[in-house]
Amino acid sequence: MKRLNTKLREIDGKGYRAYKDIKGRYNFNDYILEIIKVQGDPFASPSLLKVEIDLKKYGYNSEMYSNISKKVAFEDYVSRVFEKAIWKEAKGKRGTGKSGAIFIYRNGQEILKRSSVEIENDILQIRFYMGLPAAGRRVLSKEAKEMIFVELPNVVKYLKKEKVGYENLTKHIKVNERSDYIREEIKKRKLVAFIANESILPRESGVSEKPLKNAIKFMSPKEFEIELELQNGDKIKGMGIKEGITIITGGGFHGKSTLLDAIEKGIYNHIPNDGREMVITNYNAVKIRAEDGRGISGVDITPFINNLPYGKSTENFYTENASGSTSQAANIIESMELGAELLLIDEDTSATNFMMRDVKIQEIIKKEKEPITPFVERIQAMYEKSGISTIVVVGGLGDYFDIADTVLMLDEYKVKDITKEAKAVIEKYKDYSITKEILDEEVKVRNRYLDIKNIGKIIEKKDKIKSRDLDEIIIGTEEVDLRYLEQLVEKGQVEFIGNVIKYIINKNSGKLLLKDILQKIEEEINSQNITKFLKYESGNMVFARRFEIGATINRIRKRIF
Ligand code: ADP
Ligand code: MG
Repeated sequence: MKRLNTKLREIDGKGYRAYKDIKGRYNFNDYILEIIKVQGDPFASPSLLKVEIDLKKYGYNSEMYSNISKKVAFEDYVSRVFEKAIWKEAKGKRGTGKSGAIFIYRNGQEILKRSSVEIENDILQIRFYMGLPAAGRRVLSKEAKEMIFVELPNVVKYLKKEKVGYENLTKHIKVNERSDYIREEIKKRKLVAFIANESILPRESGVSEKPLKNAIKFMSPKEFEIELELQNGDKIKGMGIKEGITIITGGGFHGKSTLLDAIEKGIYNHIPNDGREMVITNYNAVKIRAEDGRGISGVDITPFINNLPYGKSTENFYTENASGSTSQAANIIESMELGAELLLIDEDTSATNFMMRDVKIQEIIKKEKEPITPFVERIQAMYEKSGISTIVVVGGLGDYFDIADTVLMLDEYKVKDITKEAKAVIEKYKDYSITKEILDEEVKVRNRYLDIKNIGKIIEKKDKIKSRDLDEIIIGTEEVDLRYLEQLVEKGQVEFIGNVIKYIINKNSGKLLLKDILQKIEEEINSQNITKFLKYESGNMVFARRFEIGATINRIRKRIF
């Protein structure tokens, strides 16, 4: 095998395609470099490379990544160090297009399993990208050599134990392990969420997930304060939200949605100093909202919507363009199908007619003429018969007090327990209580079969996956709108979901229970590396739950169920 140096010298000044010759694996002093994919021209997506490092030789004890929690944190941390090292050691763009730049996937505030950095048998694999340098469309060997033989080795050095920021690394690992531990612990205590005292919930702005400076720190009301003992004996105090029905209320702008947002992101673990690193939510919590305009494919929404005009059935409901209430109903049923244990709902983003019917409207629109059974009438049975808890934020819908187990109020960003006060109000207005409307029958969910042949058609003609930030993914011939999936936090998750869907299509045939395939995939991905499982090399994939994968499939407009 010719040395990389020689190859680069030979292609100097040639057309850009000559770079294809440098694909391959090369031994460096203390790592292996693999050039996996080479871009077609200097303006195309940059080339994919991989560095492989023997962690033992870099000073690490395998104890540091001996369980899944530690391993994910270790990998997550390494990719952040690698990115910072690029900033310090690499010159960046020079030449045409993306020439001269080195990139690695940029992580957000969450600690997540990613394809950019993966440990496989004590070997650390780092997948990153390089814009192979060109003048016009001619190879610039000298610059390429500088990138590969000077800049990259300088970047990789930062991963050695003595340079990595060992204390921060151990903290990253500790925080991640603690989060996973708390998530298990709250389940045992029949809690759906935990918010540690002193947490910082608000974010800097609508476009920044960094903590807001000078925010009012979270403090639990005494009635709900619990103490958790961690593995190392440390004790932390905070608010435990019990299973059942919790209502969060308060005046406009007093911090209700901020609290709910933090809870909805608490399905993920956060990096140290995020402010939400001890806001931990049941892993199977799903944010539910209205989403008019989405497609719905074969969902039985009869528990909420029935007897549409002209006898249109809702047992097997298809639409290309759902209304606010039908979309919210479908979002709930689909989440239940995949095993949701906690639903999170904000009045701000709900369809009013889905949430409730007040006394006056009941008089005008008679029950027989209203296809909608509002959520408030089903919510109790959902907990009692199916074990699904709900947290609802209300600012205008007082009827929800009637069915609440717990009522919390936000007052100038401080949480108070007002369950007693709310009960007194219910008593006062008992003539208007909605409790007589409440239905105690189970909300039944039909498990749907995914038709692999039909879904396969979307990549038959055009086998391409492309994500547009967090908003949209193009899978073959389908454009799927993901704007309202609020629990997707990173672009890489969208890329991951696209590849998982492709994997499902390629590996299966016939009709399969959606719930079963997604459950299986989630389990497998939790127990092995993403690239290995998908047999696909990319540095841009980030783990997403079965709920987000399912939600993407559910938004495909073709008939696939
Ligand atoms: P609501 O949903 O009750 O109308 P929001 O949650 O949208 O209120 O919060 C309103 C504003 O207050 C937002 O700009 C938010 O960032 C800010 N905010 C929320 N919680 C806090 C806090 N603990 N400290 C400081 N500002 C906060
Ligand atoms: Mg709000």
